[in-house]
Amino acid sequence: MKRLPSFEVMYQALLDRDSEFQGVFVVGVKTTRIFCRPTCPARKPKAENVEFFADAHAALLAGYRACLRCRPMDRSPAPPSALLELIELVEQSPSARLRERDLRQRGLDPSTVRRQFQKHFGMTFHAYQRNRHMGLALQNIRAGSSVVQSQHNSGYESASGFWSSFRQVFGETASQGSYVHAVRAKWLESPLGGMLALADDDGLHLLEFVDRRALETEITSLRRRLKCAVVPGEHALLTQIECELTEYFAGRQAKWRTPLLPHGSPFEHQVWDQLQAIPPGHTRSYGEIAEHIGRPAAVRAVGRANGKNCLAIVIPCHRVIGADGKLTGYGGGLWRKQWLLDHERKHFD
Ligand SMILES: [Zn+2]
Repeated sequence: MKRLPSFEVMYQALLDRDSEFQGVFVVGVKTTRIFCRPTCPARKPKAENVEFFADAHAALLAGYRACLRCRPMDRSPAPPSALLELIELVEQSPSARLRERDLRQRGLDPSTVRRQFQKHFGMTFHAYQRNRHMGLALQNIRAGSSVVQSQHNSGYESASGFWSSFRQVFGETASQGSYVHAVRAKWLESPLGGMLALADDDGLHLLEFVDRRALETEITSLRRRLKCAVVPGEHALLTQIECELTEYFAGRQAKWRTPLLPHGSPFEHQVWDQLQAIPPGHTRSYGEIAEHIGRPAAVRAVGRANGKNCLAIVIPCHRVIGADGKLTGYGGGLWRKQWLLDHERKHFD
């Protein structure tokens, strides 16, 4: 499990250009929207202008791009120049998606690119583009309600590359008229990192940590299911869940009054109902959940249903652990699961 050192420790490591911290974190500089290695030779930013990430994936998703001096995505030996050109190409038109056809047109073999990208940057080119697009779109959600205001005024779409990037990640916008309604998306800050919440008048449809890899897939399937557009904005239920989460993280309450609307099969709903019956500060094993719903042999299916939960924290899939007491998987990362369980034992048990 990956748990970041404290802010103070990482900031000191940054000032010291401490190579011991290579691979432990990357640092995002808010003023330039660029992320660096701890050892970057560039002048060091002020503490209030930095945020730390476990890896390049997370920094990209938060809307940063890689520094050209310390090249925090590169592994040694130096990557082929063709790869660097591809990264440059993505920056030139961040809303376009380069496909295999485009690679071939540039005389590149897609499978070689995939392999080399994986080798040098630890992710495929496809994943890189996706993370960069997603990061830019989420950054705009983070920017908040001003975007929504202007969305209702005409002209915004053509005025900015934002919506084209947003569309690639979240689908068509409401203005295109083919959708029944819009689901509002809001970025919420939490002690465990940014979260994305989606709600409409019916309830809360999604609550996830923004670096969860399945996030894009989850939003896409939600959009298809509800035939809705997902647009950044405010909604009374988003305000409500934000308040309840603040109380939860402060250790004051662990009850949810926001109406929850998980979308799944009848079996998944059975599992999720069981999760909500686990009191805060307590855990159950997958086997116990299977037992409870009268399907003792369905342990693996319970595990899958647990992983399909899109309402992090409020449907407490983090309270399910292995039969041997080990934490096992968690979509938001094991370090978050551990944090949540510790927090609940301390405040709510
Ligand atoms: Zn740098």
